[in-house]
Amino acid sequence: MDLHIHSIYSDGSAGINEIARKARERGLRLIAIVDHSSDHPKGLNEKKAIRRKIEIENAQERFGIRILDGVECGILEDGKIVMPEHHFELVIASLHAYLPVNEVYRRLKKCMVENSIDILGHVHAGMFSHNSPIPEYDLEIIDLAKENGVAVELNSYHMSPPEDFLKLCRGKDILYSFGSDAHHLSMVGKLDFSIRMAKIYFGNGKNLAHEIHNSDG
Ligand SMILES: [Zn+2]
Ligand SMILES: [Zn+2]
Repeated sequence: MDLHIHSIYSDGSAGINEIARKARERGLRLIAIVDHSSDHPKGLNEKKAIRRKIEIENAQERFGIRILDGVECGILEDGKIVMPEHHFELVIASLHAYLPVNEVYRRLKKCMVENSIDILGHVHAGMFSHNSPIPEYDLEIIDLAKENGVAVELNSYHMSPPEDFLKLCRGKDILYSFGSDAHHLSMVGKLDFSIRMAKIYFGNGKNLAHEIHNSDG
C-alpha cells in the first residue's frame, strides 16, 4: 500500500497506466498518486489535476486496484500549503526547504494545526536538513499528529523519519503511512524501510491505508 507516488503530472517519469500496472504486478491493492502541488515548478494546476483524475479513474477500472487522487504540498512560510482548486482524496504536506531548526518545527506545527492534511511527509529527510532534531519538539510534533489525526509517513526513499524520532512514536496509538516517494516506475512499491520501521515502532499504531480501505467498504 504505497501512498506516495509521483507521475509525469509533476516530476515523475511514469504515466498513470504504467504506475497502476506496476502496482498490480507488485501486489499492491491501494496506491496514491501524489504529484507535487502548485508550489512546485512542475506541479499540478487545475487543468492538470482534472486530466490526471480522469486517467486515474480509467486506470483504476482497467487494473482493478484502488488509486487515490492525491497531492504533495510543500510546507511554506507560516506552515501554509497551497493547492489548485480541486478535490484531492489524499493530502501530504512535506518540507522541501533548508531552514534553521526552529523554523522547521514552527512550520511543521502550524501546518498540522491550521490545515486539513492526511499525512506529514518525510519528517527530517536528510536531503532537506542538516539540523539535529530536538526530542522535546519531536514529541510535540508526534502529539499534534495524534490530536489532528495526521499520519506520520514512513518514507522509504528518504529513509525518514530518523530512528530517534521513531523511537518517540513507540507505544503510541498514532496513524502512520507507507511511501516509496517513487519518481520512477522501478521504485513503485519499494517499501522495505517503511515496513521494517512500522514493525519495530508502530505496533500500537494504525496504518492509514487500512483505515481508508475499510472505510471504502
Ligand atoms: Zn517530498
Ligand atoms: Zn514526494
